[in-house]
Amino acid sequence: MDSTGGETFARGPTTRFAPSPTGELHLGNARTALFNFLMARRGGGRFLLRIEDTDAGRSHERHTEVLLEDLTWLGLTWDAGPGREDEHGPYYQSRRGAIYQGFFETLERQGAVYPCFCSALELEASRRAQLASGRPPRYAGTCRDLTPGERERKRVQGLASTTRFRVPAGQRIEFVDLVHGAQSFLSDDIGDFVIRRGDGSAAFFFCNAVDDAGMGVTQVLRGEDHLTNTPRQLLVLEALSLPAPRYGHMALIVGPDGSPLSKRHGATSVREFRERGYRPEALVNYLFRLGHSGAEHALLDLEAMARAFDPAHLGRAPSHFDAQQLSVWQKEAAHRLSGAEALSWLRTLLPPGVEEAAANQFIAAVLPNVVLPEDARPWVRIVFGGPPDLEPAAEQAIRAAGSGYFAAAAQAAAQCGNDLPAIASAVRAATGRKGAELYMPLRLALTGCAHGPELAPLLRAMPAGAALERLKRLA
Ligand code: GLU
Repeated sequence: MDSTGGETFARGPTTRFAPSPTGELHLGNARTALFNFLMARRGGGRFLLRIEDTDAGRSHERHTEVLLEDLTWLGLTWDAGPGREDEHGPYYQSRRGAIYQGFFETLERQGAVYPCFCSALELEASRRAQLASGRPPRYAGTCRDLTPGERERKRVQGLASTTRFRVPAGQRIEFVDLVHGAQSFLSDDIGDFVIRRGDGSAAFFFCNAVDDAGMGVTQVLRGEDHLTNTPRQLLVLEALSLPAPRYGHMALIVGPDGSPLSKRHGATSVREFRERGYRPEALVNYLFRLGHSGAEHALLDLEAMARAFDPAHLGRAPSHFDAQQLSVWQKEAAHRLSGAEALSWLRTLLPPGVEEAAANQFIAAVLPNVVLPEDARPWVRIVFGGPPDLEPAAEQAIRAAGSGYFAAAAQAAAQCGNDLPAIASAVRAATGRKGAELYMPLRLALTGCAHGPELAPLLRAMPAGAALERLKRLA
């Protein structure tokens, strides 16, 4: 049996990511996108992208643009969605008004919905009153049974109305969540809810559900905050005789202190990580392990991840974001880059006009010591700038090596250029030094630092004559 829900799909599962473009794509949503992508790929199905932008006041075109860029950068390409329309589109909810209108009319004809004239103020007062008397707040049903005449009078008075779904009394709504297992809700605990806002736009419970049905979505992985929305959505789908997807609600991502991940925990949006030079493969490998357990401990590409993904392995406990762990993946991803990939990753740090060969030498020299591009920055200055400044401790170690040491080194550099083995063997011959005693004064003189990437490749990356210039001044 397939643990994605027990069904077999003739064409594989259809999953989707359905973001609201009200802000940046943060890690939680990126993980939701990733898991839906993997679930589709593992079953040879389709992954859709739907932009939930019916809330015109909060949705912004620029957020959608960055979102599409972020998903593409992560490698989470969609089979249908913005820029890849098919017969189930449009994939922007703001363009699906005519489809929603048809469903609204069906529900109106059935008497499954009614206009609600309550103002925001009235609703708030009712909510407070219920809370004050110890009851859970839900719509009090004020407009539920208005007569056609009463409705007409309110309209004539110019009162605006929303459309509410009439929740049937005395029903039990049951479903099996892909993560949380069997769920059961009483319809009597659910107040009649708004499916069309005062401005005529479709509200979340409604358009999210009917679009999943209309787009043939079979499985939905989404944030746990939507778990209690699910019974409402199932009621809407049932009223319209539309098929419901299998839902799975994933635990939240929390910060190290256990509170929901937010700005105060540092970078949380994909854009921030991207701009700091994180590799997409590091981010997806980290997210893949966040709340999903498995035996795969190597850096995986998306295809291998899809094979290893199993919704049965999604945990119910919140996942703790751990920047250190992300760093481990980042290091691994950076060290696996080919020369050409690493060059394009770090190129903007290099001084303009650096020759290709020198650039490649530099990358080869520093890459093993780089986790983020910022780690390469000081080495750009050390390699391509003039002779480094020497800290007092370095000066002291250099002085202790003696001028004979540096005279031999400078002479070898004059003959052989930036060739560390040649310089080191000349110094060894002149001074009898070995090991750290031999190499440390050279490292300090050439780089100004006691630690860093391997010295020989670093030296090869330096401009011709650099070794001589740096050693001569100490002879
Ligand atoms: N637009 C909703 C959100 O961003 C989608 C929820 C869902 O995936 O069903 O939270």
